[in-house]
Amino acid sequence: MNKTDYRLIEVKNKMKLEIIPIGGFSEVGRNSTLVKYGDDAVILDLGLHMDNYIAYTDDDERDDLGEKPDMSAEALMKAGAVPDINQIKELIPKVKAICISHAHLDHLGAVPFLANKFPNAGIHGTKYTIEVLKQMLISDRTRLKNKFHAHNESSRFKISKDMSIEFVRMTHSVPQTASIMVHTPEGTVAYVLDFKLDNAPVLGEKPDYQRLTEIGKKGVKVLIMDTLYAHKNSKTPSESIAREMLKDVLLGVNSKGNAIVVTTFASHIARLNTIIDLGRKLKRRVILIGRSFDKYVTAAKKAGVADLTRKVEMVKYGSQVKKYFGKVKNPEKCLFVVTGHQAEPGSILPRMVFSHLFKFKEEDNVIFSCSVIPVESNVRNRERLDAELKKMKVRIFTDVHVSGHAYREDHREMIKLLRPKIIIPTHAPAEKLALTRELAMELGYKSEDVKILKNGERITL
Ligand SMILES: [Zn+2]
Repeated sequence: MNKTDYRLIEVKNKMKLEIIPIGGFSEVGRNSTLVKYGDDAVILDLGLHMDNYIAYTDDDERDDLGEKPDMSAEALMKAGAVPDINQIKELIPKVKAICISHAHLDHLGAVPFLANKFPNAGIHGTKYTIEVLKQMLISDRTRLKNKFHAHNESSRFKISKDMSIEFVRMTHSVPQTASIMVHTPEGTVAYVLDFKLDNAPVLGEKPDYQRLTEIGKKGVKVLIMDTLYAHKNSKTPSESIAREMLKDVLLGVNSKGNAIVVTTFASHIARLNTIIDLGRKLKRRVILIGRSFDKYVTAAKKAGVADLTRKVEMVKYGSQVKKYFGKVKNPEKCLFVVTGHQAEPGSILPRMVFSHLFKFKEEDNVIFSCSVIPVESNVRNRERLDAELKKMKVRIFTDVHVSGHAYREDHREMIKLLRPKIIIPTHAPAEKLALTRELAMELGYKSEDVKILKNGERITL
């Protein structure tokens, strides 16, 4: 081969499409993937590993010594709390954009710690996602040098000569979730992380099936897909089912003369909206209690998703909560929406119960509009909380909830819509990734068409 041939091969190699899992492929959490084409790259999501993050920041031994945790990127990477970007060190100057799929912390929570490391990258998300990020930065007093770009739910923009990004409207359990398409001359990478196919959402619209079909027809090279519930042989129920469940419990049970306490995810604006509307139907005052509600409710208002502030009272700060409960009048005419759905110590519901912030009466109602995230500490905390509530003869309504993650039959739908050549299942433990391979083979794929990757394991296409 002469010099020109070598150069041609070099150029050809350079123009290949490469996918590098950075986080979330060897564990559930700290989601992040890099897609590279030629001299440009994009990072999809920069999330926190919640358990590792909490374990690292809540270190009792360090607290006893009066020390504050080292929140530098290096320290957080070492603790496994954020994606380890040392794996892609040489590619950092090539990263032209950081695109965030949705406003959950395991997808955007590492942005405040890592984004400054990418000097050439703007941060892209839908309006709600960007607003949540801004609220986080304000409350943590963090500044980023990166430029922010807030996009519509369905939108397309170029990040370099050869790479363009498309957000496709998707449904999940936070507003304005996007599936992200990375279009390159070598084909499209479809990044469909947290999703469900909700055909009757209570806030916002259905997934953009038409666009997904079009993209599928043009041909998708790789589908990277959330397969957390690959073992559920069904379709995830719509959020409108959760609304009916809440209606049944709130309007169908006689709660006259007793307080109602509901706990749910602060970021789940659709669910909050339902709870607030039902509270008003019961002619009760609705009060949101807990700091994180403020962050998400403000973001929802600013992004034009929903203005819940007009319909509720808010008690934001820890110091106010005690005072508030101390002088609240007629709790039987109130519906309290509080943090602490996983009975996390320090959140409002456990404090109401164990620190006696609130005087529960016999037959008061506590509604869990969530499911227990099956981690040992959560299970234990909930058992303790339930036992204490029962001691006070409080009525408990558990699992008044539907999931925001797709089940197996939704995975099948997504594969059929996008018709990818290669499938990379992620966001799940190994046994569920393997179940997705089984499903793909049922759909005519070969075993090797389904790639099960670990963090740092690069594939070139
Ligand atoms: Zn999510």
